[in-house]
Amino acid sequence: MTSSLAPPTGATCSPLDLAFGQNRLLATFDRELRAALEPAASLVELEAGDKVLTAGQAVERTLFPFGPLMISLIVDLAGGRSVEVASIGKEGAVGGIVSCGHAPAHARAEVQIAGPALSISLDALEQAKHDSPFLQNLFCRYSDYLLSQVMQSVACNAFHSIEARAARWLLTAQDRVGDERLALTQEALASLLGVQRTTVNAVARQFQEQGFIAYRRGAIQVRDRAGLERQACECYAAVEGHFAAVIGETGQGRAAEGGCG
Ligand SMILES: [Zn+2]
Repeated sequence: MTSSLAPPTGATCSPLDLAFGQNRLLATFDRELRAALEPAASLVELEAGDKVLTAGQAVERTLFPFGPLMISLIVDLAGGRSVEVASIGKEGAVGGIVSCGHAPAHARAEVQIAGPALSISLDALEQAKHDSPFLQNLFCRYSDYLLSQVMQSVACNAFHSIEARAARWLLTAQDRVGDERLALTQEALASLLGVQRTTVNAVARQFQEQGFIAYRRGAIQVRDRAGLERQACECYAAVEGHFAAVIGETGQGRAAEGGCG
């Protein structure tokens, strides 16, 4: 993890403007809220495999991803098994949102797709929530959305086929990353889905034969999103629909002055 972020070549927006323009939660902040939190914020660049939180760790900061960054919440079980229960990208935030303050993390949070995030101290966020009913309401709504992801994952992992779950995961990842190319190995995907690598290999081969994806040099290229949508279970639409219902266009653009993001 690095804490400096060079302005993108040719960009007219600062990295801070990009964060407040691209992250769906930050984009709802007005000038006053942004000004109150900027002194407690820093930009970080995260790499795939970075462990943002480990189970039991005290949460000190909240990360607001932007750009292609995607972070998974993963539950580890005895015997080395693990499974992803939720994923977070520029639509959300990681750390201290649901618990409403300092509490140990329950799941491991690990970066799957590299990218930048705005890191804000939890103390400053808690104070801002205390002062702003808007922010309190926003985080409450986002917590509801995050919980919907976890609830849907329970049902999905119990009843839906690995093909449907893999298609759902790819659609969600593409939404988070905002690109057709997903820099992810089949080994990592198997771990997130809680299955053997050979199982994911077979599904990836099937999807390639169907023309849904191409797989080369450790990256998945989504080639037929509509095909993946047909293959995915209902869980993808259910979770996206809940996001639209509880977050939707809440205050969207309040801080997007300047047209950045
Ligand atoms: Zn499902």
